[in-house]
Order: sequence, then structure tokens, then C-alpha cells
Amino acid sequence: MRFKSLSFQRRLQTSFNSKDKTYRYFSSNPAFALQQPRKASYNEDENGEMEWEKLGFGPVSTDFMYSMKCCEDGNFVQGNLTHYGNIEFSPFAAVLNYGQGIIEGLKVNRKEDGRLLLFRPDQHALRMKMGAQRMCMPSPSIHQFTHAVKQTALANIRWVPPPGKGSLYIRPLLIGSGPVLGVGPAPEFMFLTYASPVGNYFKQDKTPLSLYVEEEEVRAFSGGVGGVKSVSNYGPVLKTLVRAKSLGFSDVLYLDSVNKKYLEEVSAANIFTLKGNVISTPPTSGTILPGITRKSIIEIARGLGFQVEERSISVHELTEADEVFCTGTAVGVAAVGSVTYRGTRFEFKVGENTVCQALGSTLVGIQTGLIEDKKEWIINIH
Ligand code: PLP
Repeated sequence: MRFKSLSFQRRLQTSFNSKDKTYRYFSSNPAFALQQPRKASYNEDENGEMEWEKLGFGPVSTDFMYSMKCCEDGNFVQGNLTHYGNIEFSPFAAVLNYGQGIIEGLKVNRKEDGRLLLFRPDQHALRMKMGAQRMCMPSPSIHQFTHAVKQTALANIRWVPPPGKGSLYIRPLLIGSGPVLGVGPAPEFMFLTYASPVGNYFKQDKTPLSLYVEEEEVRAFSGGVGGVKSVSNYGPVLKTLVRAKSLGFSDVLYLDSVNKKYLEEVSAANIFTLKGNVISTPPTSGTILPGITRKSIIEIARGLGFQVEERSISVHELTEADEVFCTGTAVGVAAVGSVTYRGTRFEFKVGENTVCQALGSTLVGIQTGLIEDKKEWIINIH
């Protein structure tokens, strides 16, 4: 694979300051450092200033991306930053033909004092590693993954929204980039990280979600790849998602493939219920993605004195919950106002003084540096 229009391939380097545990980047090429960064195609006013308030959850072309190739021995070698741009593959690339690819997604937030905070990159790196094993791919080490994410964030620092205006979403991607014809793993693999500033995932920011329980089509099945962030998991849910959205729902709630009775998850988020003092969420035993936000919320909730259970939850039980909420890097902790099942709409408590709100504001507080990080979830990168 080569990068289109990147004959220059200028390199950025980083320096690590062990005293304050921060990374800074600099260019070895003065021309590169002086180069005027490219403007965004949208989200800018007439003066070229970013209109952070208008940020949604869509791709914005930022300045740089990071890439790393895998050698035949299965090890990834020295990656580097290049200008953000299109990439070229053989049409026979394994990812394009047979879906051999894994994604990740994590956020960088800007603190009031200007520092950049990265949330649990080691957990995302570990999840990619597990996913890569399932998809028969070599994967970057935890250190290589985290380094790539930091480099990408620092090189795109001007795209990190001001505090309270959003985050820089980093997308790591691991793909079978080499050509294949018969079904088999790719002869070459590529790891990329790129970024986009993001605001809210759902269009109506503070509006509680309305979920549609899908009974016909399933997202995952036992023995499949529902439990990893394979690129092949998302195409099959588009039909149900588009249909639910066209009917006015925010998202789809999927059920288990065997009984069509137990909750699985939403298109890109995990699901929780609250009844009394008990918070419940389905166990991640292969068909459900083990969300990093899910794991963090379980820990926060236990710390706040809630009983948290990871167990099967039937749709019937869900309809009797006091509160329902979703968790994910992109969605945060999102209140569910209603769930529609077999034509009946069930409503749940939302708004002020809810458990969902308390958990969400604690998590956001930690992620944005407003609440002390006692769990060592945050990495300062600038
Ligand atoms: N479930 C699915 C299918 C997802 O795509 C995501 C998002 O990555 C999640 C759950 C939430 O995972 P996390 O909290 O790690 O972002």
C-alpha cells in the first residue's frame, strides 16, 4: 500500500519529557513546520475559525495521520506521521474483499489548563489485540498503539476542541492491506490512526434516546465476532438502523440470536438498566462488545455504592426498569427515555437527579480533568 500524493512523506518526531510525563512533537524539516495547515472543508466560519458549537459526529479532515506496516515476521515496525489523505490499496486487499479488519475509537479531551487528556488507551490497545487474534491478524503492541494515538493527537492538536465543546476522536484501524484471492489472511497488514473533532453522537444533544427493539435481525451470534470490534460487525446492522431512524427512533436495541428475548446491545453502545439500587447490564460473553465505557461505569457505580450485576436481562425485565441508559466512547452515558417493543412504547425516568446523570457526570468529570483521576485512567499527553 502507498499513500497517494505523499511522495514527500515528511516525518514528525516526538520528544518525551519524563519529568512532567508529557509528549511534544517537532518536525525535523523546517519547511514542514512552517507549512500552513490545510483548512477544514466545513465547520468553519468565513474567517476560517472552527465553529465548535456546530460539531456533530462526522468525519472532519484533520492534518496528520499515523501509519505502521507489519513485516512478514508478524511484527510492526517504526511508524510515522504523514499528512492526512486518501490511501491506496490493491482491489484484492483482504480488508476490502473479506473484511479482515479491526477498528478502535477513543477520545482526547482538552482540560481548562490546556493539557490534553487521553482516556484508557491501554484498554483500547488490549481490545484491539484480542480482536486481532480473532481475526487472524498480528497487532501492534500496547506501547506501539498508545504511541500512535499520542502522536496523532499531538500532530492534530489544533483540532482538539476547547473544554466543553467536544473531543478529538481518534480512530485506530488495523487491516489486512495485502492482496488475496482465495479466502485466507492477508500477506501484509497496516495499522493506521487518524482523528476527527467530534461533538455529540446523537443529533438531539440532551434529548433522551428512543430505542427500537429489533426482533427479526440479529447483530451477533455465539461463536461469531460480536465480542470484538471487527469492521464486519457494522455493515449488517445498517439496514435495521436506517429503518429505525426512518421511523423516528434514535437507535436499535438488539436481542440475542437464540431466544430473541435477552438484551444484547445498541449499534455502537452497551446497555444498562436500573431498578432500585441495582444496576444491571448483559454479560460480555462473546456476542457483546466489552465496552471500555461500560467497564468504567461499572467501576464508578460500584464505588458509589450501587450493586452492579452482569447477567442476562429479558426485554420484559427491561420494560419494568426505573432507568435505562447506554454507554460508549462516542455516545458517553446516554439516557434512554423510551424503548418500543412489539408496538408498545415503554418510558423511563430521565433528567435531573437520575443515576444515569450522576454516573455520566462523574465519568465526564474524570475524562475532562474536572474530577481527580484516582484510578489512573487518564494519560496527560501535552
Ligand atoms: N458496542 C459496540 C458495538 C460499539 O461499537 C461500541 C463502541 O465502540 C461500544 C459497544 C462501546 O464501547 P466503548 O465504551 O469501548 O466505546
